[in-house]
Amino acid sequence: MCIFANGDRPCMRCSIMKRGTYKKRMANVASTLKRTWAEIDLDALAHNYRALKKHIGENVKFMGIVKADAYGHGSVQVSRCLQEEGADYLAVSSIDEAMELRTNGIELPILILGHTPKDQVDKLIDNNITQAVTCEAKAINYSEGASRLGKTLKVHIKVDTGMSRLGYLCEGDFFKGGIDGIVQACRMPGLEAEGIFTHFSMADEDGDEALAYTQHQFKLFVEVIEAVEDALGKKFELRHCANTGATARFPETHLDMVRPGLLLYGYGDYAHELGLEPVMSLKSAVQTIKHYPAGTKVSYGGTFTTTEKTRMGVLPYGYADGFLRSLSNKAVVMTSEGPARQCGRICMDMSMIDLTGKKSVSVGSEVEIFGKHNPVEDMAAAAGTIPYELVCAVSKRVPRMYLKGGEVIERELLLRL
Ligand SMILES: *Cc1c(COP(=O)(O)O)cnc(C)c1O
Repeated sequence: MCIFANGDRPCMRCSIMKRGTYKKRMANVASTLKRTWAEIDLDALAHNYRALKKHIGENVKFMGIVKADAYGHGSVQVSRCLQEEGADYLAVSSIDEAMELRTNGIELPILILGHTPKDQVDKLIDNNITQAVTCEAKAINYSEGASRLGKTLKVHIKVDTGMSRLGYLCEGDFFKGGIDGIVQACRMPGLEAEGIFTHFSMADEDGDEALAYTQHQFKLFVEVIEAVEDALGKKFELRHCANTGATARFPETHLDMVRPGLLLYGYGDYAHELGLEPVMSLKSAVQTIKHYPAGTKVSYGGTFTTTEKTRMGVLPYGYADGFLRSLSNKAVVMTSEGPARQCGRICMDMSMIDLTGKKSVSVGSEVEIFGKHNPVEDMAAAAGTIPYELVCAVSKRVPRMYLKGGEVIERELLLRL
């Protein structure tokens, strides 16, 4: 029984795959299709992967970052696509996310970037999951956990070169202590240090200061690797540090493997420069249209007042679906007749858009909230945030439709039906 089972009820994905209820599920999902849904273009994902492989060259491996349900795109389907395309590694943030992939037939090596409790080391080993080791205390825990089982846990050592989050501190006065700690971890029984990695904090920022910071982080990382390899008398198999910014801009940082997330999904300036395509298109359909005279207050708090006779559409898309309330009166969605501005406060389940003059947009018409015609980058800028947050915010209530060759090949709704 899958770990996501709820009592006697199998988990949704298992029930789709093993219990033959796929048709029923399809029907369930189909009934909500004309609310709000996310189209996941698997061809665009494959295109992005191939373009990135070309960009990094044959000798560099590719680790797909599929944490947070693959940035809202569906980690199982994204991982399946990457596995078919020949990617080398996947990374997630927790053992739950890793097990979700294993449970659904993903066989690629998986690195957990975050912490796993000691008592789950056996699960890591049994499922061929690689664990990040970020400090001495964790190294000891993992070593003890694995040794007790008489088994070996594959680990990647995390070096903190300036992100100041996880990893062995190696800056300045901490260099010697950091190296000693890493060497010690690599020699611990029960641990196999397959890789070593660090994370850039400014690789996607413009300006000389950010560039210098990244260069410094990279230089320190290389020095750490050299010192550790010298002490150990052997080389790491996988040295990696390139996130989206570094993968796109700094080929010298690619080392043995790159580790892009956002870039793979086709967002941001670097994605455009590399000819990548946005993978998600978030769509909704106009639910109701009403006509108001000038001077009508719209939605909670009356923050929007019509200035003329207005044809106002209601979208079944609100903050519980991932439409940040801070975008109220700022967002623009795309209709078949061009952009329509969002009016009044965004509600939990609904929001209003101005359809004045857009005669062919009627009840049932599709609008693109963001996607190929309405870049998520624009909406992120309007919200004062980054595309990452908007794609991750698309909630479980929003069905995902996976497209290949222009056809929907799978539909998924992450509710407890
Ligand atoms: C999330 C993450 C990445 C990917 O970051 P992007 O900016 O999306 O490319 C890479 N490495 C680590 C350690 C991460 O946590």
